[in-house]
Amino acid sequence: MEEKRKVVALLSGGLDSQLAVKMMQKQGFEVSAVAIKTPFCDFDCGRGCGFEIRERADTLGVNLKTVYLGDEYIEMLKNPKHGFGSGMNPCIDCRAMMFQAAKKHMEEIGADFIISGEVLGQRPMSQHGPALKTIEKESGLEGKIVRPLSAALLPPTDPEKNGLIKRENLGMIKGRSRRVQLQMAREYEIENPPNAGGGCLLTDPAFAIRAKDLFKHTETPTTNDIDLLKIGRHFRFDQNVKLIVGRNKDENEVIKALALPDDILLEAQDHVGPVSLLRGKDLEKFESLAAAITLRYSDAPKDKECLVITENGKNKAKLSAKAADESSYLKYRI
Ligand code: SF4
Repeated sequence: MEEKRKVVALLSGGLDSQLAVKMMQKQGFEVSAVAIKTPFCDFDCGRGCGFEIRERADTLGVNLKTVYLGDEYIEMLKNPKHGFGSGMNPCIDCRAMMFQAAKKHMEEIGADFIISGEVLGQRPMSQHGPALKTIEKESGLEGKIVRPLSAALLPPTDPEKNGLIKRENLGMIKGRSRRVQLQMAREYEIENPPNAGGGCLLTDPAFAIRAKDLFKHTETPTTNDIDLLKIGRHFRFDQNVKLIVGRNKDENEVIKALALPDDILLEAQDHVGPVSLLRGKDLEKFESLAAAITLRYSDAPKDKECLVITENGKNKAKLSAKAADESSYLKYRI
């Protein structure tokens, strides 16, 4: 029997990339998927990273390779060549990195080309014609990326020129409406099609403000710094010092787990309230302020001195402070 031609799909867990896979399978290709995770994707947190996307890959009947872009992604984010979208999303550079990872897999398994669920005009920064071209160029994949949902509206790719795919089997979807995709989902019997959008924290305006502050004040943020951005209330005291205050029990636990030996953890001794984390240089200068803010968000009486436990590595101490009033601390809120 003749072996099926192989293609690699960038699978995001969203509906569009699943439809792209289905379209290629229908045309007789063996599809192998690559899913990319970055420190900023949040697509299925809560159920375990990658759980949802693995389920989708299983349902589609494709192999799945997950690639984690960590330090190199953070490095790119310091100064993305093609700039940011409305948040801190460097969509063009980000997509180029994702396609480079898919390219590596394509070469490893001997696939002919790469597919993705991108739809022309669906996203403002990365899915208009010139951006799609730039992404191809930057990833070294000119002519090798097929966007099956919109490909009949785009210039012919190498597989089309070589007769591997035919224009009449390619989609003409354009824009932000999901009507055609939902119709296709029914035809392909894709159950519970996921909602559009979501997943990338860099597009979230509140998160983007915190991320910009971090990148402005830290030469190379770590994944630990970035994980802290995802939780708590954030305060910047000076160039080097930040305070993160937990908003609930779960966040308090995460803050404790992310604390490093040089950080100071603070918690009211006798009252229910947040765990706070003070990070940076010369922290002693800011301990009293941090203790006062910690008490402010606790059940401690606002008009009395109360004790706050501080923990720095193995050293524990107590500090007496009074809950901060708004005028003294809101100016530090990021
Ligand atoms: S939205 Fe986020 S994950 Fe998607 S391309 Fe933009 S930066 Fe990358």
